Amino acid sequence: MNKTLLYNCRALLMDEAGTLLDNAYVAVEGETISSVGTERPQGTFDQEIDCKGNVLMPGLVNAHTHVPMTFLRGYGGGCDLQTWLHQWIFPAEAKLDDRAVAACAGLGLAEMIASGVTCIADMYMFTGTIAQQVMEAGISANLSCGGVYFGDPADFSPATCNDCYNQEKLTDLWHGAGNGQILVDASIHGEYTSNQPLWQWMADYAQKKGLGMHVHVSETSFEHEACKSRHGGKTPIQVLDQFGVWENRAIAAHCVWTTEEDWAIMAKKGISCLHNPVSNLKLGSGVAPVPAMLKAGVNVAIGTDGVSSNNSHDMFEEMKFAATIHTGVSHDPLALLPMDVLRMATVSGAKALGRKAGVIAPGYMADLILVDFDHLGLFPCHSVKDNLIYSANGRDVVMNMARGKVIYQNGTFLTLDLEKIKAEVKGYAMKKVFG
Ligand SMILES: [Zn+2]
Repeated sequence: MNKTLLYNCRALLMDEAGTLLDNAYVAVEGETISSVGTERPQGTFDQEIDCKGNVLMPGLVNAHTHVPMTFLRGYGGGCDLQTWLHQWIFPAEAKLDDRAVAACAGLGLAEMIASGVTCIADMYMFTGTIAQQVMEAGISANLSCGGVYFGDPADFSPATCNDCYNQEKLTDLWHGAGNGQILVDASIHGEYTSNQPLWQWMADYAQKKGLGMHVHVSETSFEHEACKSRHGGKTPIQVLDQFGVWENRAIAAHCVWTTEEDWAIMAKKGISCLHNPVSNLKLGSGVAPVPAMLKAGVNVAIGTDGVSSNNSHDMFEEMKFAATIHTGVSHDPLALLPMDVLRMATVSGAKALGRKAGVIAPGYMADLILVDFDHLGLFPCHSVKDNLIYSANGRDVVMNMARGKVIYQNGTFLTLDLEKIKAEVKGYAMKKVFG
């Protein structure tokens, strides 16, 4: 088994105490961390990495994204949500094929790897193609296909519903692939894009197969209120609860308009909120009540959402927005502290996705990133945690180790061919979609 030693680092362990270990040695064996300490561990190593006094932290978990949508960066700006979706995004997506999705997913993965992401939860079509790209890239991913059903409930049949077929195929081919590198989640795109027989089928299927569940929930006020008027005052969290959708590990993207009653269900059933502050601000959806959700005992993770509505995969930027909007709107500078947000992007994200990661400790997945604190924007440093949240950006990441393997170092991708990906996006995907 391959052994790597990372030495001469300031390790932000992301343990309960928020320990920052100076002059740390972190040893990795295969895919997992084998030891952490301030003395050199015994034995020999296949590879030794001098971290040059920089900050080593757990890799970031982008807990809600649509990775192929990277090709829509900056497309259709300046529209309201409905116009943007129906006149710009959906027609462009309708022209995608497997080859285009492979190229665009590769591009999004490269952007994330270079900015410190080691694990994602993704929801998109052509999901098997995305799985192949993830396997090649080397990070971990919870993949889902976002089930929709617009037909009459009376006409529903799993045998003829496309997304039941897609879900079954995805699970059979990819769940657990790469020693758990890929996990398949069951998925309902949203309450407003399907109805009860699909919810029931998906809930039963998740339980039968032991899968997690990924759903968009209460992103906009319109969606939330329309659900209530369709279902006798019940919110999306409450309606889907009636069909057993939340019985397994579940992740709910956005939760901007969720209520106190929703949070009680979320805390009780272990439904994690996937907070996407930039996308919610850009699309005018609102600000999710994250401090109140945390107080109510809800696990909160962070995601960028698709690049089409962000327009970046930079989780450091996402963390800064999370840390600052909640203090701003609540007029309370202590509403969310840097450590709270760092937790959301690491250990809480890993928990949401059902993975033993997000902490630097023996037995945890060796998902580790190195942040260069010699970079201009991070110097001088009075507080590592404050600099990570308020000063750092994705370009300060100089090393990404995912599942024990260095996949990016000093600007070089070791698993992906970035020039080839860019040429394929430009020469094939963009032409296929935009002519
Ligand atoms: Zn989304």
